Amino acid sequence: MRGGPSARPCEKARRKVVDHATMMEAARRAVVSASGVCRQVQSALDEVRSITKDDKSPVTVADFASQAIVALELRDQLGDVRLVAEEASAFLREDDHATHRQATLAAVREIRPEITEDEMLAAIDIGAGDTDHHSFWTLDPIDGTKGFLRNQQYAVALAFIEDGTPSVGVMGCPNLPRDMSEPLDVPDSEGCLYMAMRNEGVYECSGCDTGDAPIRLTRLDHAEGEEIAVCASVEKAHTDLGKVGEILELLRSEHGEEVGEPVRLDSQCKYAVVARGQADAYLRLPTRKGYVERIWDHAAGALIASESGAAVTDIFGRDLDFSHGRGLEVNKGVVAAPPRLHGLLIGAIESLGIGQ
Ligand code: AMP
Ligand code: MG
Repeated sequence: MRGGPSARPCEKARRKVVDHATMMEAARRAVVSASGVCRQVQSALDEVRSITKDDKSPVTVADFASQAIVALELRDQLGDVRLVAEEASAFLREDDHATHRQATLAAVREIRPEITEDEMLAAIDIGAGDTDHHSFWTLDPIDGTKGFLRNQQYAVALAFIEDGTPSVGVMGCPNLPRDMSEPLDVPDSEGCLYMAMRNEGVYECSGCDTGDAPIRLTRLDHAEGEEIAVCASVEKAHTDLGKVGEILELLRSEHGEEVGEPVRLDSQCKYAVVARGQADAYLRLPTRKGYVERIWDHAAGALIASESGAAVTDIFGRDLDFSHGRGLEVNKGVVAAPPRLHGLLIGAIESLGIGQ
């Protein structure tokens, strides 16, 4: 039972019915603000570390601040929202974490100068929504925490899920080079923003903190004979790099394809890099049997890549199914690539028996 008999009419009254374009605009504003705050915290990494005496605290602070800001922006623009986000305020409420709490409050006040500590903690918990509905928002306030700490790639990833499929997705990539000839491990001064609506395409904005001058991305299929550039996680525990190598070797030896060294970067920026044609494929191959991918790690990115023309499935070629709670329970890993190459990759995975 999700509420008493009178809960439903009240809930409906507070939750506005809005179209996808309105949701996208709300999501854009939310992600733009959160990306700006993440940048701000990153520019003061050492200061935050020295206040909290904790090496990982900058990402903790930016993570909570990002979640509070996205939740408040969505609520202000769309009324009560169902938001399923990665973080919960319990950690910040602990007495031992008062310095983290204060640093997070200072970060949130960059955008919301009047906010109190209690309001900020309550805002973080707007993200404690459940997935037991046909539609809800999902947020990874900072995807790629290790990338954030290394001042490399990370993303603020927000998506709206309807009937098990993302229909609106916005992703801020504050360190992603605007110029594709620049190396991916060097942070850009403005980053990029991606916005997608199902069946309406995907747009890239130069600069993660405005969302101005969007340009539509359409990626070409990978042509035979062109070198295949695959992207994958930096963290070895998050994708099986040995198997990535075996797949590429099979494409070379059996299909005569030219293959390059995998490009490694953190976070859902990998989906954006495929969407904009900088990489040909994103491979995420499970490193252990029981791992279930989290919905917020894929919802926005998967829509962004698929709206560019890429096929996005799990390693068995099945659509990603976001209708099973907080995990992609019926999927294993991810393969995102334009259709011809996607077919080759799924075939190679099958013939190598990966994931069996
Ligand atoms: P990446 O940036 O590609 O390294 O992915 C980061 C995400 O990997 C995090 O947000 C985690 O939720 C997720 N993750 C954590 N453990 C694993 C694992 N064993 N396999 C795959 N993904 C994981
Ligand atoms: Mg994540």
